Amino acid sequence: MSQKVVVVTGAARGIGRAIAEKFGQLGFNIVICDVEKDLVAATAKEIGKLGVKALGMKVDVTQMVEVENLFEKTIAAYGRVDVLVNNAGITRDTLLIRMQENDWDAVIAVNLKGTFNCTKAAAKIMMKQRTGAIVNIASVVGVMGNVGQANYAASKGGVISLTKSAAKELGSRGITVNAVAPGYIETDMTKTLSAEVKQAFLNLIPLKRPGTPEDVADVVAFLASPAARYISGQVIHIDGGMVM
Ligand code: NDP
Repeated sequence: MSQKVVVVTGAARGIGRAIAEKFGQLGFNIVICDVEKDLVAATAKEIGKLGVKALGMKVDVTQMVEVENLFEKTIAAYGRVDVLVNNAGITRDTLLIRMQENDWDAVIAVNLKGTFNCTKAAAKIMMKQRTGAIVNIASVVGVMGNVGQANYAASKGGVISLTKSAAKELGSRGITVNAVAPGYIETDMTKTLSAEVKQAFLNLIPLKRPGTPEDVADVVAFLASPAARYISGQVIHIDGGMVM
C-alpha cells in the first residue's frame, strides 16, 4: 500500500489519530484534519516520525468551503486521494425533551453534514481516478438508538444510510464506501461517562472489555485495503459483540 494517500477527519486525537497512525505504519502519506490548530500540528508531527509525509490542516468539516480547500491542498501536496476516513464527530447528550435546537443542529452538522461534505469533495477526485475507498465512522447507537442521544443516533443512522447510497452511486467508478459501527471505545469522548454507564455497557459486551482506538483502526485499514476490494455498502460492528 506504499505511497497511497489517506485523508482522516477529526484525526488530532482519539480514534481518528489511531487511524492516521495505522495508515502511517502502512506507508500511506497522510492528511490529518481537525478543528484545533495546535493539536493538528502536534499530531501531524508525531505521525511524520513514522517516516511518511503527514500534512496537518485545521478544517471544520461542517464548512464546505474549508472542505474543498482541504482536498485542493491534498491534491497540491500529494496528487491523489486513495482513502477518505470520515471520523470527525461530536456528542451533545441529553434527553429528547430537554434537547435544545442547537444541540440537535451541532451534532447533525458535524456528524452527518460533515460526512456528506467530505464524501462529495473526495468522490469528485476518486471518480476521476476510478479508484478509492471511503470509510465512515458510524456507531452502534446509529443502529439501535440510545437514551439521551437522539441527535447522535439520528446523525449516525444518517451516516449509515449515506454510506449505502454513496456505495450505490460510486461503485461503478471503482469506489467502495463502507461504515464501521464502534460500540464502547475508550477515548476522550467516553471518558466523561459515569461509572454506572460504563459498567452497563460492559454488561452488554460478550468480550467483557471496552474497545480501543486501535481495535477500530485495524478494521478501517482492512476496509481500505485491496483485501476488501469486493466489500461495499456494509456496516461492520466493532463492539465486542454488543450488538448482534
Ligand atoms: P474524540 O472527541 O476523541 O475525537 C473527535 C475529534 O473530532 C476531536 O478531535 C474533535 O475536535 C474533532 N472534531 C469535532 N468537530 C469537528 C469538526 N467540525 N471538524 C473537524 N473535526 C472535528 O472522539 P472519538 O475519537 O471517541 O470519536 C471519533 C469518532 O468515532 C466519532 O465520529 C464518534 O462519533 C465515533 N464513535 C466513538 C465511539 C466511542 O466510544 N468513543 C463509539 C462509536 C463511534 P474537538 O474535540 O477539538 O472538537
